[in-house]
Amino acid sequence: MSQDDVSLEARLEEQDTFEPPESFVEQANVTDEGIYEEFEENWPECWEGAADLLSWEQEYDTVLDEGGAPFYEWFTGGELNASYNCIDRHVESGDGDRTAVEWEGELGETRSYTYEELLEEVQAVAATLRELGVEEDDVVTLYMPMIPELTVAMLACARIGAPHSVVFAGFSADALATRMNSSDSEYLITADGYYRRGDSLDHLSKTNEGLEDVEHETATIVVDRLGDDLDHSLADGQHDYEELVDENRGETVEPVTRDAEDMLFLMYTSGTTGQPKGVKHTTAGYLAYTAWTSQAVLDLEPGDTYWCSADIGWITGHSYIVYGPLALGTTTVMYEGTPDYPDKDRFWEIVEKNEVDVFYTAPTAIRAFMKWGKEYPEKHDLSSLRLLGTVGEPINPRAWKWYYKHIGGEECPIVDTWWQTETGGHMITTLPGVNEMKPGSAGPGLPGVDTRIVDAQGEEVDAGEAGYLTVQKPWPGMLRTLYQNDERFIEEYWEEYSDPDADEWVYFPEDGAKIDEDDYITVLGRVDDVINVSGHRLGTMEIESAIVGVEGVAEAAVVGGDHEVKGEAVYAYVITEDGYEGDDELAEEIVEGVVDAIGPIAKPEDVVFTPELPKTRSGKIMRRLLEDIASGNELGNTSTLRNPEVVDEIAAQVQDE
Ligand code: ATP
Ligand code: MG
Repeated sequence: MSQDDVSLEARLEEQDTFEPPESFVEQANVTDEGIYEEFEENWPECWEGAADLLSWEQEYDTVLDEGGAPFYEWFTGGELNASYNCIDRHVESGDGDRTAVEWEGELGETRSYTYEELLEEVQAVAATLRELGVEEDDVVTLYMPMIPELTVAMLACARIGAPHSVVFAGFSADALATRMNSSDSEYLITADGYYRRGDSLDHLSKTNEGLEDVEHETATIVVDRLGDDLDHSLADGQHDYEELVDENRGETVEPVTRDAEDMLFLMYTSGTTGQPKGVKHTTAGYLAYTAWTSQAVLDLEPGDTYWCSADIGWITGHSYIVYGPLALGTTTVMYEGTPDYPDKDRFWEIVEKNEVDVFYTAPTAIRAFMKWGKEYPEKHDLSSLRLLGTVGEPINPRAWKWYYKHIGGEECPIVDTWWQTETGGHMITTLPGVNEMKPGSAGPGLPGVDTRIVDAQGEEVDAGEAGYLTVQKPWPGMLRTLYQNDERFIEEYWEEYSDPDADEWVYFPEDGAKIDEDDYITVLGRVDDVINVSGHRLGTMEIESAIVGVEGVAEAAVVGGDHEVKGEAVYAYVITEDGYEGDDELAEEIVEGVVDAIGPIAKPEDVVFTPELPKTRSGKIMRRLLEDIASGNELGNTSTLRNPEVVDEIAAQVQDE
């Protein structure tokens, strides 16, 4: 490193607030800080602006109907179609030639659809689904990898009013069957396979295995993604996508009229903490909210090229690859593969080639990039970027600063967006053209979103103190219920802090958080992930953040394990950065780092260096397995892991010590 680099690094390290870069603010969609007050004073009518981003067949008459709280209804009386909003209206207004979907296959092939082409393809698939017997309100399951047919299929479902239930392609056969049974879904679109690090993966066999456990007849359409790379034959009741769809190309399928509160889709949560929940989202509120947050938070404009590297199999892909960006008329990039294929600069190659304006990814990916080194982004011209985002877990300041400097060139704001499958869209984040950024803290609740941190009794905590995150007013993108399970909906989200007798409803996302004097919220993690050491409650994410702040550490997971004296003790599992040894010296530095940041109470009992951490397919650390290892328990179910083999490796290592 040159002398300049060293002083730059040192300056960044010290700095804990960042103003939005001038060049960004000059062009941002939202720049007036008065927006917070305006929304508060004018709530819930403040959400009319979000509804105005949509085209309605019939104007709504009520913004918010609280009569059945907590079964809130938004924009009631209104009628619209999501597929029309995401496609037709852009074609009708003369933007049919603009690219809607730009797809990058892992092997380097590309496919793109203009809005006009997307319209044609969506109608063909909609016609095909109808031919197969799909009627309005039938749930169609989409068990597909990241191929354009997935986006097309979602919009085709929306067009004919058939809610989709996307099951992440990385999930097991069992997960598919559970979700299809739970949603009584009799229609399935899947694919023969897809590519991962150059290898072809057989997805069809897994699908068939799952279908064996589905309790009802299913009509299945199979996309041929692998061609000659997979020798497959279709069973009875299974149809080749291209054969069926091709017959319907050129068909016109009018978008059906949906009520504002008609179900748009069903999405099962990732299941990090237990049984997945079938989250129900409806048409108007969800679409208005994703469009509005795409505009205000992701700063998207028609004509932007935008890339969210998430998988459509989880909510981020639904809201911010498909519905939000397409409702605004943006070009949305879809990538099939992994960030390190064929090399560790694949993402930056995609950014450069497509001149991506806005990029949205997960902290786990950023920590991997950091571990691989800045030479990979440095090979590419990333100057097209204007804004960066993160989602999925807290981002620790060191990773934030790396992202800010090496990807954004210190010219792009970063939005650290806290939200959930259940919230439909962003809830806590800075507005990139308005607020200063504080690495490690997501920011204030969005305008109109009433987030408060409370103690166990529901009283608001003071600045600096930790408590429970709550949302005290409804918002348009909220889940309406858990599919066919209103009781569990109340139990999971509303029971904790509401006062039903007074008709006061408080949404509890089950995350812990801290708030500072500027109302910036730092999410500490799920309340289940809190460790109780000698009566002190410690957030796993906070300890992890302290550990990844130590030089030489790439990633860390912290869990509570049984301890004779303390009840629970802190156990740390750590991945080192390239070029660093996981030795006693580093372990000592880690312990010191935690003690410095949080206090001796959080001192790890044991630091275990490991090459990998057990992760779900969506990239979240599966802490309960590490807890089993730390406590010496029998290992729990590993079937939804992306890398089940590491669990045994870590267990063996701990026993050897
Ligand atoms: P399940 O609810 O089934 O256990 P899940 O909570 O992992 O699964 P998601 O809805 O995908 O499913 O994840 C939402 C959770 O992710 C949040 O509740 C929070 O714990 C975490 N999260 C998301 N974004 C952030 C962020 N920016 N900062 C901190 N935590 C985040
Ligand atoms: Mg959750």
